[in-house]
Amino acid sequence: MELHGIGVGRGVAVGPVLRMPDPLPEPVDDRFAGDPDAEYARVTDALAAVADELRTRGAHAGGDAQEVLEAAAMMAADPTLADNVRELIGGGKTGERAVFEAFAAFQELLVGMGGYMAERATDLGDVAQRIIARLRGVAAPGVPVSDEPFVLVAPDLAPADTATLDFRVVRALVTRDGGPTSHTAILARANSIPAIVGVTGVLDLADGTIVIADAGSGTVVVDPSTDAVADAERRIAERATAASAPVTDGALADGTRVPLLANLGDPDEAANAIALGAEGVGLFRTEFLFLDATSAPTVEQQEAKYTALLSQFPGRKVVVRCLDAGADKPLSFLNDAHEENPALGLRGLRALRASEQILRDQLTALVHAQDATEADLWVMAPMVADAEEAAWFVALGKELGLRTVGVMAEVPSLALVAEQVAEVSDFVSIGTNDLTQYTLAADRMLGTVASYQDPWHPAVLRLVQRLGEAGAAAGKGVGICGEAAADPQLAVVLVGLGATTLSMTPAALADVRAELATVTLEQARTKARAALAARSAAGARDAAANA
Ligand code: PEP
Ligand code: MG
Repeated sequence: MELHGIGVGRGVAVGPVLRMPDPLPEPVDDRFAGDPDAEYARVTDALAAVADELRTRGAHAGGDAQEVLEAAAMMAADPTLADNVRELIGGGKTGERAVFEAFAAFQELLVGMGGYMAERATDLGDVAQRIIARLRGVAAPGVPVSDEPFVLVAPDLAPADTATLDFRVVRALVTRDGGPTSHTAILARANSIPAIVGVTGVLDLADGTIVIADAGSGTVVVDPSTDAVADAERRIAERATAASAPVTDGALADGTRVPLLANLGDPDEAANAIALGAEGVGLFRTEFLFLDATSAPTVEQQEAKYTALLSQFPGRKVVVRCLDAGADKPLSFLNDAHEENPALGLRGLRALRASEQILRDQLTALVHAQDATEADLWVMAPMVADAEEAAWFVALGKELGLRTVGVMAEVPSLALVAEQVAEVSDFVSIGTNDLTQYTLAADRMLGTVASYQDPWHPAVLRLVQRLGEAGAAAGKGVGICGEAAADPQLAVVLVGLGATTLSMTPAALADVRAELATVTLEQARTKARAALAARSAAGARDAAANA
């Protein structure tokens, strides 16, 4: 039997399933007859204790885990939630029930906001469970503990769970819920283990069932044959060899250079990327620095961050993207209006144009960082629709003192006028995540249409081809910075279509580097032609593999 979901990363793992224990049952809604003040005091003690515990565990875990646990601790200490709990207890609810209802209402609010915020609802549910467990005097739900390697299966993972995972024994994460930006996905990427999210039916697997989790194909093979296990183990060994291969610059078998760059969201991630062989940065997502900000960051705040990033790449290329407020990444200071179809709304460059001073401040901060460091700074705008928008952005960037200014190709309209864009822009970087979403009209955050979110689709590849040809004709670089660049086989096809650089999550660099080294430019072009002629994403994958 095979189950399907959305794979995170390219890894493969084999092992027995261990499931997360079931959550605590919902507290019953009996009328509370005791002293409401004493009951509320019990709850505030529990809230404080849980916040404390999460913070302590965060300090112990360090790194990304510390950040997520501290955010969860802040949720437990949120005064609005405490007020709501007090009110519910005053209205005759038990402490447990009041916590359950107050947190559930807040979760619902987050889910309604969609995207990134909806995925934080899981975190809030986890905090509520911990508080209720404490009020009940029972152990908090948590990850199973084992000395033997296992594949962790869960409805979804919350930060408090993922922070306590022992990655020496957890081979893969498989969850029923969660999207590509859920904590499960983030933690799996950061720890270079495979994850498959959104897998229907996975919770029916019994503990001890052997599975092959293959993130590349998004499949979970249940009770695999001996041959399938042997094949998976061979692929695991190959990946280990690729990962330990000497770190060299990206190049094809015939020596054609394909610089391999990193996608980053924080200057702190640069050292790891450099250690993994990143030749520079192909996408710095500036909005990740300011997701929690309620007002626009100042020029000084931004300058400090950008300088911290650029100073780590002397003589290297660093592509910084301007603030990309969107459905999945709301920035309240740029766009907090309700929109029926936020992915089609005032986001990307559109939101920046509507708040031009915020854009000018960001570009000014970038100019200061450019002038204070030795890095080769390139700046680009997200979600650009056409050459008019591209020209407007490039002119503004140059007026303020930037040397190299370009645009992201994420909207099909931009690709369709690629020659006009190549004329006015210094470079183009293709965001295949959004380009796929808009080409196939499939919300990238929505599990039900995840099968459309496949950058192998020939329609997407044809747009990449147009952009590649226009860039080559105008002598302009055409990079790829969406997840597609992290898929080694697709990376080859993208180079065959004209991509001049590839940028990806640093954990993917080794696999892509190894795959590029196996083909010449002519072979990459042959594979690209075969993929372009296919009739579906799956057909393109097969055609490229057999070309
Ligand atoms: C993309 O859309 O492919 C991209 C790189 O940008 P983001 O994933 O941040 O929207
Ligand atoms: Mg995008």
